[in-house]
Amino acid sequence: MSGNVEIMLSENALKVLEKRYFAKDEMGVVRENSEEMFRRIANAIASVNPQPSEREFLAEEYYRFMAGLDFLPNSPTIMNAGRPLGQLSACFVLPIGDSMPEIFDTVKATALIHQTGGGTGFSFSRLRPKGAVVRSTGGQASGPVSFMKVINASTDAIKQGGTRRGANMGILRVDHPDILEFIDCKMDLTQVTNFNISVAITDVFMKAVKENTDYDLISPNNGEVAGSLSARMVFDRIAHNAWANGEPGLFFIDTANRANPTPSKWTYEATNPCGEQVLGPYESCNLGSINLEKHLVRNTKGQYSVDWEKLTHSVYLAVRFLDNVVDANRFPIPELEEVNKGTRRIGLGIMGFARLLMYLEIPYDSEEGLEMAESIMSHIQEVAERTSQELAATQGPFPYFEGIGTKKRNSHLLTIAPTGTISMIADTSSGCEPEFSIIWYKNVMDGTHLPYTLDYFTEVAQREGFWSEELPSLIVKNHGSCRGIPQVPEKWQMVFATAHDISAPWHVRMQGAFQKYIDAAVSKTINMSQEATIEDVEKSYLLAYDLGCKGITVYRDGSRSNQVLNLGTGS
Ligand code: UDP
Repeated sequence: MSGNVEIMLSENALKVLEKRYFAKDEMGVVRENSEEMFRRIANAIASVNPQPSEREFLAEEYYRFMAGLDFLPNSPTIMNAGRPLGQLSACFVLPIGDSMPEIFDTVKATALIHQTGGGTGFSFSRLRPKGAVVRSTGGQASGPVSFMKVINASTDAIKQGGTRRGANMGILRVDHPDILEFIDCKMDLTQVTNFNISVAITDVFMKAVKENTDYDLISPNNGEVAGSLSARMVFDRIAHNAWANGEPGLFFIDTANRANPTPSKWTYEATNPCGEQVLGPYESCNLGSINLEKHLVRNTKGQYSVDWEKLTHSVYLAVRFLDNVVDANRFPIPELEEVNKGTRRIGLGIMGFARLLMYLEIPYDSEEGLEMAESIMSHIQEVAERTSQELAATQGPFPYFEGIGTKKRNSHLLTIAPTGTISMIADTSSGCEPEFSIIWYKNVMDGTHLPYTLDYFTEVAQREGFWSEELPSLIVKNHGSCRGIPQVPEKWQMVFATAHDISAPWHVRMQGAFQKYIDAAVSKTINMSQEATIEDVEKSYLLAYDLGCKGITVYRDGSRSNQVLNLGTGS
């Protein structure tokens, strides 16, 4: 098979790669191009394949898979495969025990993980509450939030692999006595800035919310009831803060534990920073995402449909690739290696879903949109499961397999990551999210910024006869959306949906549709308009819980003063 796949990278993608991903020498000079980068990754991952006879063939297949932008692994794999660091996973959870040595061992492990580009999640729920007695000193404990600040400060000091700042997730159970302090800890936007925070919500709590009763707070150090709170009051406070600045998120901890295939090893207490991976202590996951925009076929009439055959092959190959990543991975501390080899967890996901829907002429916020999400994800699930079972037949199941479910090579297979950077490299929409805007600005030579619309939108508008020179500026004035612009026919207003056109319940229903076929979790933001109310936030929480989601994050437009992406000016 010849290796000359044409690598079609956008200008933006090349900039990202040059800045962060291409290998550089000691002087910081780029020493790699995109072909060499994809070859480096493909060779490193194929070289650990258990059957030596397959290695050369797989190296070529993996190369073509990535160079064609059909699939990309998560950033640490792109940056570190075949290079000295060799750490390939994006997601980690580390335990925080209720003692100084345990806490500071974890601070050290966190620093080492951040250096390799991984993100870390922690549950602070085992720490005794603020004011509890410290036996060795007779003093008083400073509580979970104070230790989050320690990790936050250490994160500030370490840049991930010299390229990105460390990302953390802090989680506290809703029945921890310090829960109110935790819920408010990011209201001051200068505090714990390197953390996302989520409240671990129990079924008992949700029942108390629905029945408007009190629930017990439990001291983790002695298991005793330390008081009680009104569930509605706590629920309102979480929703208020999320409405005000996007945090905390919710993590439905009992839902997550009902899907635990290794309950004798651990109960889940935390997730990675963006919430798509619920992990046990020292567990990690390497991710990879299939670019759905590259899984379409066009017929002679110019209509698009899903290329199911290609998708089947891509899922098969991606599972093989990610399973090989488990063996190629190098971890900074031995506990991580031991657990990762025990579960062999992988996280195959998607990107470009919103673009796929546009080509198929299906609105994101429609029953048909949900059905397409389910068709695609159930297909991916079926092929991924089959592939992992086949690998188990020849190479054995994951060592921590406890006989729960079918015998597979990997404890977990599927997820939906944010794909924040890799979707930029592939030049497609991120994860399962809608497009944020259908218009961007291009920097031109003289420093001016020219608006330009999504290529496919321009193509359709010209073909269907509703294009005009002033359409881009009308879209800019319309917050990056074409909905409500009279010259755009209603059908296309619906098809070219943006995040802010889509009401919160549709966002949640889409998350729920994907979650049905995913063993890990889904990273998704429930975008709300500026006018949304606290009650709207609460309704989304209840819907997400009832649909079986493992968590939920809402974001009300404009609620954070330092909002990174402004409508109509995304890049
Ligand atoms: N992540 C991180 N730092 C970052 C971005 C991401 O540690 O700046 C971790 C985090 O655990 C997140 C995961 O990587 O949940 C996947 O994020 P994403 O899909 O955006 O990563 P990409 O591979 O596109 O860089």
